[in-house]
Amino acid sequence: MNYNRRRERERARRRKRAIITLAVAILILVPVIILVINTFKGCSGPVKDNRKNGTSSMQSQTVSESSDNGALMPAGTSEDSDTAELSSKQSSEPSSEPSSEPSSEPSSEPSESPATLKDKIAHYVSSEKDEVIRLVNPFNPLEEDFDPEVTELKNGKKFSVIAAAKLDEMIADCNKVCGSDALWAQSTFRPYRTQKKLYENEVDKWLGKGYSQEKAEETAATIVLPAGTSEHNTGLACDFNTITESFGKTKMYKWLIEHCAEYGFVERYPKDKQDITNIIWEPWHYRYVGEEVAREMTENDWCLEEYHYYKGL
Ligand SMILES: [Zn+2]
Repeated sequence: MNYNRRRERERARRRKRAIITLAVAILILVPVIILVINTFKGCSGPVKDNRKNGTSSMQSQTVSESSDNGALMPAGTSEDSDTAELSSKQSSEPSSEPSSEPSSEPSSEPSESPATLKDKIAHYVSSEKDEVIRLVNPFNPLEEDFDPEVTELKNGKKFSVIAAAKLDEMIADCNKVCGSDALWAQSTFRPYRTQKKLYENEVDKWLGKGYSQEKAEETAATIVLPAGTSEHNTGLACDFNTITESFGKTKMYKWLIEHCAEYGFVERYPKDKQDITNIIWEPWHYRYVGEEVAREMTENDWCLEEYHYYKGL
């Protein structure tokens, strides 16, 4: 009996010890586990946040179809991307929404940081409706009934009656220096309805891939500009030769940069203005704005967004 009782007491002691050991272990392990979890959270948290901020602050990014180095171009899309071949694109963010409010008065805050000012100019809503200098971009779309009077260029392509003769003259003069047919008008006037069709076809393509209407429209807008937001709808924009950056290395490009203002044209999407135009460098795309404005823009190194902003139009 005594022996049995001793054994029982011994067992009870062991159980007690085991329970105490377990309790101590739990007391020690739980805070350690919590600490470890928190440490991991601390590492992954900001990464997730950064990613989120990165995409939300980024506008749709495209890779230039002609960029040999494969480097991402700054935020922007190609104005001519419906004709250009895009190799890839990033971000599910759509091109930013047109802002409903015009930006505040130009140069009112001298202390403004350059990034803020550029952003303000990029989103500027102009009230100037004069056809020749009209600002056309996603924040300044043309009306659906915008229907410019067009005529045929020497090569049969359609261009606004306002500037067709000037364009033919500029091409002829460039070719006197660069060689016969060195420079030629490739893509010119694109009516509103054609642009609309191109955009709708692109939306349909993404709907067919299972995208929601909203997502399909967002994605399509990074590839084809919605109707009324392409300069080609004005009949005053011309793409020369090949829609690749390599055009920027040709003697025709050099000649155009030196002389296009004399004919009333400007390089519409310069390399150093991509963060304002939100369009990749398009050395092939020229816009007629009239000689006086072209000269003023060139002298001040302004793109059309800057011209409208600084002139308070
Ligand atoms: Zn173009």
